[in-house]
Amino acid sequence: MLELKLLCVGLAGFAVACLVIETAGPCAGKVFGESDANLYTRTIVELLLALYVADFVTGCIHMLLDFQTVEDDELRLHFETTVPAVEEFEKTPLFTKATERDRYLWNFHSHHEAVFPSSDSQLELFMQLFQYVRVVWPLFFMGYYYGYIPEATSRVWLVALIVGLPTQQTHFLAHARKRGLLKDYPFIEALQDYRIILHPDAHSAHHTTFNCNFCILNGWANPLMNQVARLLTHAGVLAEEPPTARNRREREEMTSKAPRPVTPDAVLVAAK
Ligand SMILES: [Zn+2]
Ligand SMILES: [Zn+2]
Repeated sequence: MLELKLLCVGLAGFAVACLVIETAGPCAGKVFGESDANLYTRTIVELLLALYVADFVTGCIHMLLDFQTVEDDELRLHFETTVPAVEEFEKTPLFTKATERDRYLWNFHSHHEAVFPSSDSQLELFMQLFQYVRVVWPLFFMGYYYGYIPEATSRVWLVALIVGLPTQQTHFLAHARKRGLLKDYPFIEALQDYRIILHPDAHSAHHTTFNCNFCILNGWANPLMNQVARLLTHAGVLAEEPPTARNRREREEMTSKAPRPVTPDAVLVAAK
């Protein structure tokens, strides 16, 4: 049922995106005039749309993965706060004997507790998105080639799927700046300041509530994505309490309910 609801929302969103893309080009033409320059204008408009679409898609994938729950409760409630500790834990039976889905989700969610750097290599980070792109890109190309998908929509999506590939890199660059690690790279800081790539301020709210600001390429699509997340929560598709927040609450409850160790002082007080 959840999958069906998500599929309907996804298809509706895709249809709206196609409509916006198909009208944006001609609108730009009308505003800037039907001259040779129109081609350049259209290209720029489509490139901006591709960056927006790519950012939105990163938000969708991030949100869907964040709201999946690790089924093994012991694994779900386990957490590590440093990347070396995550790497060590991932060698233990609790992790290695878990299902592939649980392992993938626990590793993905571990970023919320062990924030920086990534516990995955640059290649693994790249592959997290490439595994989707390598399936979707040829499908879009075939849709375009055989005339099933409108031209402008195809162009924007084919570019979006490529420009979105370094998303995890822009995400971790935002975390790197928060730790003062980009001081020697003013060019990257400038890209962040001009919001061409994700600025740390556009991402920090996600690490507080885990239910907003999911977009991690440049953050342009966060306002729309936040509304989508609110709507999906209201419709009961997404849980009110994000899994990371739930795990933290349950851990706190378990700690407060756990019997306190008996100290010699406590024995003396009880004897009086
Ligand atoms: Zn997240
Ligand atoms: Zn993050």
